[in-house]
Amino acid sequence: MGTSKYRLHHKYDYFLLHHGGKNTVTGSCHELRINGSGILIDCGLFQGNDTRSDSPSDLNIEFDISHIEALLVTHTHIDHIGRLPWLLAAGFDKPIYCTKATAALIPLMLDDGLKLQLGLNSKQRKLILDKIERMIVSVDYHQLKNIEGRQVPSSWSLDEEHKSKEAHSVQFCFKPAGHILGSAYIEITLPNGEVIVFSGDLGPSNTPLLPDPISPKRADYLVIETTYGNNHHEDVSTRSLRLEKIVKKSLQDGGVILIPAFSVGRTQELLFDIERLIEHSINTQSTKDDFWQALPIILDSPLAQKVTKQYERFKQLWRDECLEEGSQLSRHPLSFEQLITIDSHQAHQKLVNRLASTNEPAIVVAASGMCNGGRIMNYLQALLPHRQTDVILPGYQANGTLGRQLQNGEISVVISGETIKVNAHIHTMSGYSAHADQDDLIAFIQGIPTPPKTIFLIHGEPKTKQKFKEQLQKINTLQVCNIEI
Ligand SMILES: [Zn+2]
Repeated sequence: MGTSKYRLHHKYDYFLLHHGGKNTVTGSCHELRINGSGILIDCGLFQGNDTRSDSPSDLNIEFDISHIEALLVTHTHIDHIGRLPWLLAAGFDKPIYCTKATAALIPLMLDDGLKLQLGLNSKQRKLILDKIERMIVSVDYHQLKNIEGRQVPSSWSLDEEHKSKEAHSVQFCFKPAGHILGSAYIEITLPNGEVIVFSGDLGPSNTPLLPDPISPKRADYLVIETTYGNNHHEDVSTRSLRLEKIVKKSLQDGGVILIPAFSVGRTQELLFDIERLIEHSINTQSTKDDFWQALPIILDSPLAQKVTKQYERFKQLWRDECLEEGSQLSRHPLSFEQLITIDSHQAHQKLVNRLASTNEPAIVVAASGMCNGGRIMNYLQALLPHRQTDVILPGYQANGTLGRQLQNGEISVVISGETIKVNAHIHTMSGYSAHADQDDLIAFIQGIPTPPKTIFLIHGEPKTKQKFKEQLQKINTLQVCNIEI
């Protein structure tokens, strides 16, 4: 993937380097180099077509880290933190800064990866995770923080105005990004007083659980993700109506509703929407809607359960409206009584067999979101041939995944070497993306009072970045910006 380097300021030795995640949506790893010292922003895993090799040895950190003083983490998706164990293996022993919720999620997310990808046993995983936990320094949102132990290189030739000690300090601050629990964009104040902002992944507007990101007050340089820089999402506000319609229709003919979902973000939003549907149907007291009260909602993913608990724990980070609404609910969002959680593999297999033989109605939420692994596979294998089964695909389905095959309407698919006939109904819902779309990204940029000198478009396919750049250039107020792709 190679490193690319850009000089930020003609007068100062400030550089932006990309070690991954510039022209790809995975493998995020950026470096801000200030007078020879480096700060890393994220250290993620390459995934899917971006993968360099299937061999774990190629996950080695291939760039010099001797001058790196800290790692700042935007959020816990594996394409932003997945290479952390390899960073440690390369000798990294500096502070890892992140928000409190991110600090709580990092061990959960990494543990799963170390188990599934590397097959490490629990003792080996604990050793690595304990070390990472000791290196983590959690910081509140909006709290200004100095990089600890930062050395001022003796080789500096200093301007008069930068001779005071404070002027050498590099401060940073996490701001809510609205993407997943704990997610942040990062404002970093450079020694010359200028501010560079790293967006991390930004969430879409109007999601039910997390507040929308608010633009920074200052960003002389903006490094922004463009995953959906050329897309417009379906309206989030109407998605629960669509979900209700699909659920009601499918329940009329009985059978199971399968929802493949990611463990962080989408799963919790789906559960929240389903809970609101149930609450609403109970409040309207329509006898026809009684089935809602008896409908089992099954969360069959140990990781998603643990993450959901953290969503509960960090409830103060939810958007205000949702907390107010939650306080009026007789039922409790995300911990409702109809939620059945499945832990052990035996319980999982037993449930698959039971649903396949009885066809009783139930909603099952399980990973993986693109049906390319995880417990959802056993459900699909057993239930796709049933006409009463409904599959709701709430997220992006990448090329080459079973999810995409189902979305394309294939009449038969192969799971674990067995050819399975698809008689189930397949529904696609795109309103559950955790990413900002083009309008959200533009609103974020336009919300910065003074347009940035330079905007760096990252975390996107080259074609998407080009289209997004053209879009930005059409906006009058942004014509002063230099846009790098
Ligand atoms: Zn993300």
